[in-house]
Amino acid sequence: MTKPSAPILEGQNLVKHFWVKQGRGPFARRAPIRAVDNVSIRLDAGKVTALVGESGAGKTTVGRLLAQVVRPDAGRVLLDGKPAPAGRPRSYAAQVQMVFQDPFASLNPVHRVRHHLARPLQIHGFGTGDVDAAVADLLRRVALKPPDQFASKFPHELSGGQRQRVAIARALAVRPHVLIADEPVSMLDVSIRLGVLNLLADLRDEERLAILYVTHDIASARYLADTISVMYAGQLVESAPSERLTDSPAHPYTQLLLSAAPDPDRPAPPHLAGRGAPPSLLAPPSGCRFHPRCPYAMDICKRQAPPSVTVADGHVSACWLHVDAAQRTSSENGVPVGAGSHIDKEKQKR
Ligand code: SF4
Repeated sequence: MTKPSAPILEGQNLVKHFWVKQGRGPFARRAPIRAVDNVSIRLDAGKVTALVGESGAGKTTVGRLLAQVVRPDAGRVLLDGKPAPAGRPRSYAAQVQMVFQDPFASLNPVHRVRHHLARPLQIHGFGTGDVDAAVADLLRRVALKPPDQFASKFPHELSGGQRQRVAIARALAVRPHVLIADEPVSMLDVSIRLGVLNLLADLRDEERLAILYVTHDIASARYLADTISVMYAGQLVESAPSERLTDSPAHPYTQLLLSAAPDPDRPAPPHLAGRGAPPSLLAPPSGCRFHPRCPYAMDICKRQAPPSVTVADGHVSACWLHVDAAQRTSSENGVPVGAGSHIDKEKQKR
């Protein structure tokens, strides 16, 4: 068996709570929004990892934690196996770049494309040679041709897809190893989404970038990603190679997401009627956070958070359905099989 290579960027047991004031006057108190609770994720060279979930699931916060835009309350971020430096120093930003949802807001409307691409080259010390040639090269890499014509345009003269390509080119200017793309196509016209997804796929294949693709759209995650991780209410609930996850979803929440995105090319998941909405992260449900919406919820689901269970090679699901009845009973009786623990069913079979 070949040893798996080390990830380029890794988040281990990340926790991030945002504190908000509730109530007024003497009764006011501060309460945490549990945006991210104990999330571990890895990004590998030449691979796209998709982070999927409904709005408010904590996906964007995980991306920002990995980019070091916000600091975790607990857990750690490792870049090339070493703890990420505090803050977001230039050396870290050069290796881990972000692409945002709204390409228009991320480009200054008063500057031409050339300025947007030349500036990071100069800031990071790559602008000592022929800057125009470097800008043209960046534009070619994101398929904006002829480059001279695009370099002289203002953002408002470009389509949404072209603006997002400029934003990606700007991220590439500093020669990163990791790209964190937060809903990069959700604001684009359906007709041009595919072009941007294909560009990300080319960057993965040809430049071996490690890409985190944050999205609410599990269909596009299946199209682009090598691995999909699913988040619900601040926690990871399932992770697997993308075809495996979409063909054989093991977690009821993933089944719910897939039943809302039918695809004639894959087996139909069990149909789950839309049951309720995601919970408030100010007071998430006890036990499994999905239990108020889950058609399979058992008593233990309301009391104890499920362990993560390896249900197949590389396929992990945090759900009590994958724990034997005997183990569930012993857990109820105080033997610790619960949140934070891990059961490897593949090893148990051997
Ligand atoms: Fe449903 Fe229980 Fe599994 Fe949660 S742990 S998804 S409530 S069966």
